[in-house]
Amino acid sequence: MPIYLDNAATTRPCAEAVEAAVEAMTVNYGNPSSLHKAGLEAQLLVDKARKIIAGSIGADPFCVYFTSGATESNNLALRGAAGAYGRRKKKIVISAVEHASVDETASALEAQGFEVVRVSPREDGRLYAADFLNACDENTFLISMMLVNNETGYILPVKETFTAVKRKYPDIITHCDCVQGYMKLPVKVNAMCADMISLSAHKIHGVKGVGAIYIKKGVRVVPIVTGGKQEKGIRSGTESVPLIAAFGAAAEKLLPTIGERYERVGTLKKYLLDRLSSIDGTAVNSPEDGSPYVVNISAEGRRSEIMLHFLESKEIYVSSGSACSKGQQSGVLVQFGIKDKRADSAIRISMTAETTEEELDRLAEAIAEGFEKVRG
Ligand code: PLP
Repeated sequence: MPIYLDNAATTRPCAEAVEAAVEAMTVNYGNPSSLHKAGLEAQLLVDKARKIIAGSIGADPFCVYFTSGATESNNLALRGAAGAYGRRKKKIVISAVEHASVDETASALEAQGFEVVRVSPREDGRLYAADFLNACDENTFLISMMLVNNETGYILPVKETFTAVKRKYPDIITHCDCVQGYMKLPVKVNAMCADMISLSAHKIHGVKGVGAIYIKKGVRVVPIVTGGKQEKGIRSGTESVPLIAAFGAAAEKLLPTIGERYERVGTLKKYLLDRLSSIDGTAVNSPEDGSPYVVNISAEGRRSEIMLHFLESKEIYVSSGSACSKGQQSGVLVQFGIKDKRADSAIRISMTAETTEEELDRLAEAIAEGFEKVRG
């Protein structure tokens, strides 16, 4: 049996999600915009999923909009806010460790004349609310930071930062990319002081190609996809009812077990690190207090790609840094102080609560064998 340890890239859809998608494809396959019964039934499925997602983040369903995934949600948050508020104010503050869907979007806005300030971790590899606050000023209309870093599992001080920013600059819009934190940590929009958050279904055992954005009432965004005014005009295009229904089913399944799964994965992380500590030349790149779901290590002197393919030959699937960067050296790891050869040899192991100790044993044995057999 292959061992899949790349759950930060994507997860296996759960049975409930698959069942919901199949039902929406075979039984309730109407277009939610149609005025007949088939349309109404499809609309009811979308409404049900919206209610579940909204409930899971402590939000009013009115404020939750479905998108094609978190990349689109992040684009909508940044570009949409720039469209709505960017005439009078020009500055956006983000962290320097954001996913490309935020970072590249910020760069695109920079090219249009916006000023983007990227707040870096300090020497100790940690980000501080005070640094974000200092980066904000009267010209700032948006701050965007992720909840959990997808490459290292580092948990950003989102609540502390957004609370401080809102206290000093109540008009600044706060956006959080919650993709790697959702259904792993509690995500509650009011407690986080978040005006917008982005979610992705395929990271929580839903299906690829669907996500959501929460937009607080009163916050304006200019849509980036225009057309038939679905999703109250915020995101036009016929809703993907099967994917949305699957998203709702996955969220409904995971919500009650956030705490116990976190604990279980925490135990797995300790187990893995214990196993790896006996292998000379491995270094841990993830912080001790990071999300246990992501464990980033370096196998010194063995390039990520080479070790990754060695592990693949043993049917163990991990990732080099971030799955989205397809082998390019990760600027994010450098931001965290993980540089040069150590960054070149970084491997990301990302687990679920279903990962077993036996699988981690096999991984550790394979890494030890890889050390012997691969060079360069
Ligand atoms: N944000 C983070 C932190 C991610 O890890 C990812 C996916 O890797 C995304 C955004 C993009 O999500 P999606 O695949 O739904 O577009």
